[in-house]
Amino acid sequence: MTDLPEIAPAVTLETRPFWDATAEGRLILPRCNACSTVIWYPRLFCPSCASDDVSWVDAAGTGTVYSFTVVRKGQGPFAPAAPYVLAYVELDEGPRVMTNIVGCRPDDVTVGQRVVVTFADTGEATALYRFRPADR
Ligand SMILES: [Zn+2]
Repeated sequence: MTDLPEIAPAVTLETRPFWDATAEGRLILPRCNACSTVIWYPRLFCPSCASDDVSWVDAAGTGTVYSFTVVRKGQGPFAPAAPYVLAYVELDEGPRVMTNIVGCRPDDVTVGQRVVVTFADTGEATALYRFRPADR
């Protein structure tokens, strides 16, 4: 088992603010100014009311494990990292994000566990958001 690979994401004009923030160790989310929906995945219109009046807001960086699986046979660059945890984390702001749980053994992850964001630098002016147990 090795660390998960840090593969740089594909950045678009729409997602540039999000990825720029990760490089600074900050998690930000788009929020609709018309209906207050916190939007995930990052985009510049509201999927709830179709408004394009969207602002970026700082997220707390905390959440709860909603669901997860332990990948025991990863593919491609992820193969050496197995076993690792692929999870949905429900952010305290509401959205559920697909991510990895790191900083603990896969067997120590539980549904409902409190987690906090951590960033893995890709070396290309972005960082990947992952989560670790909040009590460590
Ligand atoms: Zn809206």
